[in-house]
Amino acid sequence: MPAPRPGRVLVGERALRSRIAELGAEIVRRYAGEPPVVVGVLQGAFLFMADLVRAMPIDLATDFVRLESYGSGTTSTGQVRLTHDLATSIEGRDVLVVEDVVDTGLTLAALRRTLEARQPRSLRVCALCDKTGRRQVDVRVDWVGFTLPNVFVVGYGLDYGGLYRNLPHVVVLERI
Ligand code: 5GP
Repeated sequence: MPAPRPGRVLVGERALRSRIAELGAEIVRRYAGEPPVVVGVLQGAFLFMADLVRAMPIDLATDFVRLESYGSGTTSTGQVRLTHDLATSIEGRDVLVVEDVVDTGLTLAALRRTLEARQPRSLRVCALCDKTGRRQVDVRVDWVGFTLPNVFVVGYGLDYGGLYRNLPHVVVLERI
């Protein structure tokens, strides 16, 4: 069987640009007067986060967490571990988590529990992609960039075995 490779483009550069501009504007309206701490989930959200915060012209702060992820496969293990923590305290702050993909929801649910235990004033989530068809736990996502079918995607920050994060668009991983 051939090795999986990036195949058809699911979300192109132009669609990413215009949706992220919309999301930035909506999010800024929600946080009127009280800029959030924007928390990116490494590594997958790094490009999305970079573009999203540039679409949010307010005095926000940024920080990052890193979670144990899929490794080199394409299915969730259900095991979630914080391997890099925030540098800032979020107690009493408005927090916006920026995530790459919500799939089963297990990762985001665990991250929400961890961050909520630190008593932020509010905790909202913006995810680039949502695969609603595969959800195993009910987890709140406040803003979604794109709802995707049940396919494994790479590019625009998303990897397979550490590769393809630098592709400028979201593409389907295919055996071609
Ligand atoms: P969940 O716990 O919701 O099943 O999985 C969430 C995490 O799995 C995401 O943050 C992402 O790291 C990874 N993931 C889920 N779907 C995909 C996908 O289609 N492509 C890539 N590259 N990672 C994915």
